[in-house]
Amino acid sequence: MSALSRIERLCQKKGLKMTEQRRVIARVLSESDDHPDVEAVYRRATRVDPKISIATVYRTVRLFEEASILERHDFGDGRARYEEVAEDHHDHLIDIESGEVIEFQNEDIEKLQEEVARQLGFKLVDHRLELYGVRLADNKSRKGEGG
Ligand SMILES: [Zn+2]
Repeated sequence: MSALSRIERLCQKKGLKMTEQRRVIARVLSESDDHPDVEAVYRRATRVDPKISIATVYRTVRLFEEASILERHDFGDGRARYEEVAEDHHDHLIDIESGEVIEFQNEDIEKLQEEVARQLGFKLVDHRLELYGVRLADNKSRKGEGG
């Protein structure tokens, strides 16, 4: 792990002071694609550096969020979850049984949202869309297969 992670580069660009523990947390976040909560980030970070405290993780995550490096989500379970601010927009579908978060993009939904805003007299500048579902019976056997 010698190359800078994407989050570390963003921190550098935004002039955030980077301590060694912040670097570890930044790398853990950069390597996570599952929208972890603070507890999960803490568990992963302490595998790299057992001296990192949960308070440090909370502070660092909040700092990254305020610097628009991380995006915070609430997927309905009352836990704040984090991901890198994405270059390409995507929305989320949450499996309410397993908690799995699936990312998707849908051009029709994007256009429809712009259209709704326009009809209400607005130019759309941002949106959040979360779908909550349970897997269809014939889709359960496919769960866990690659792809
Ligand atoms: Zn996402």
